[in-house]
Amino acid sequence: MTELQEVRIGVQPLERFSEILSREQMAKAVRTARAVAQRLSKQVVWNVNSTAVGGGVAEMLPSLLAYTRSFGIDSRWLVITGEPEFFRVTKRLHHALHGASGDGTPLDEKAHAIYEAALRRNALEFASLVREGDIVILHDPQTAGLAPALRSSGAHLVWRCHIGSDTSNEQVEEGWSFLQRYLEDVPVYVFSRESYVPPMCDHGKSEIITPSIDVFSTKNRSMSDNAIHTILVHTGLVEGPPPPDADHGFVRDDGTPGRVGRRAEVVRLGRPPSFDDPLVVQVSRWDPLKDMVGVMKGFALLCSQGACGKAHLVLAGPDVRGVSDDPEGQQVLAQVEQHWRDLPTSIRDRVHLASLPTEDVYENAAIVNALQRHAAIVVQKSLREGFGLTITEAMWKERPLVASAVGGINDQIEDGVSGLLLKDPEDLEGFAGLLGELLASPERRSALGAAAKERVRSRFLGVDHLLKYATLLERFDSA
Ligand code: UDP
Repeated sequence: MTELQEVRIGVQPLERFSEILSREQMAKAVRTARAVAQRLSKQVVWNVNSTAVGGGVAEMLPSLLAYTRSFGIDSRWLVITGEPEFFRVTKRLHHALHGASGDGTPLDEKAHAIYEAALRRNALEFASLVREGDIVILHDPQTAGLAPALRSSGAHLVWRCHIGSDTSNEQVEEGWSFLQRYLEDVPVYVFSRESYVPPMCDHGKSEIITPSIDVFSTKNRSMSDNAIHTILVHTGLVEGPPPPDADHGFVRDDGTPGRVGRRAEVVRLGRPPSFDDPLVVQVSRWDPLKDMVGVMKGFALLCSQGACGKAHLVLAGPDVRGVSDDPEGQQVLAQVEQHWRDLPTSIRDRVHLASLPTEDVYENAAIVNALQRHAAIVVQKSLREGFGLTITEAMWKERPLVASAVGGINDQIEDGVSGLLLKDPEDLEGFAGLLGELLASPERRSALGAAAKERVRSRFLGVDHLLKYATLLERFDSA
């Protein structure tokens, strides 16, 4: 294959969930998986998206598919490729569906031509792989334009959109009108929230499936204090030396051992924070809608009020050279750095901009795991958010959260119980206030963290996600 890249998927036993599910829940999951496997014994389930690294979809697919493969289901993952101008158009579209204008370029016929030219090459290759009866799940706006070319294949098509906006505006309408011609004949759509379903997809053809995390993945599995400490010192995120019994090790999703060897590239003025200093952490792609600049300004405001104690802020994202479908990364990181330079020296000393290595996705996941687990407070001050897996990840790790009350974050955090919600994501004073409140109260932090973990256990596990996919299949049986 030249256009499409196939990502190798491992095999994971669903039975590992018996650690955290009741016997009845486990039995139901296994029963359902076996029935689905029987139903799909001759079919392939294709998942297609636009990046193997970075972002929520790339995070979810390998785990979910690995569980289905353990039942003999031939689940595969393909990544489309395209020129930078294709990803410029799709990023513009991504912003539009979130209700934002992005780089402001028009979503006109020229944009359609760029979009279609790249997808035509991918579709040609893909059409030769797909057989009648296969299931094809196209993820997000980047792949929607493959749908028309697959119409005659006899495959069951699903378009799953992981982003959306609770309310409509001109941008949102422009985004949907761009996609309309590609999606018209798709029989099933999947959205993360009811309020994201646009009028054009709202004809009984849409299902709601809430995203999930894999609590056994390298990103989320438990980690010893020793490993957390060693990994953070080694990557340069906190000051050394490593603990006496240093442990750089982590376990890859396939069970094989790994060792963190690369360092993070950190923009900072002075020394790294010490291991005992409380860290306020946001982990995100370098995307304007994640508002890294706003986080920094809110933290700076808290410090200027003399209320941040010994806390440091770590803004962490992927090394911008490693994420192929996000052309904005470099520019956003440069903007964050510019704002950082404008901070007074005493505050700049406490703000660290970390680009995490992405050459090895599992190493990257282990670093994120260590950083999230070590955080005194995890923040996600997004201006818009489809769902926000970073929230779920931090909740599972019993971290207290301060996050904007936008999009799918509202489905995850019950304000004051399993985290704190910032009603207006642009309210810097409010943000600083919530941070100050939590920094001052370790008891509150523990209580919120404990409730957060329970919330994930009851709603956002991969097993629930797979059961909903199984239900989706029934639509094809009755078609
Ligand atoms: N992520 C990561 N390394 C990074 C930055 C982010 O692995 O340097 C992961 C993060 O842990 C989460 C995903 O990327 O699993 C982001 O998903 P989310 O739903 O929060 O946002 P999206 O990027 O899809 O908008």
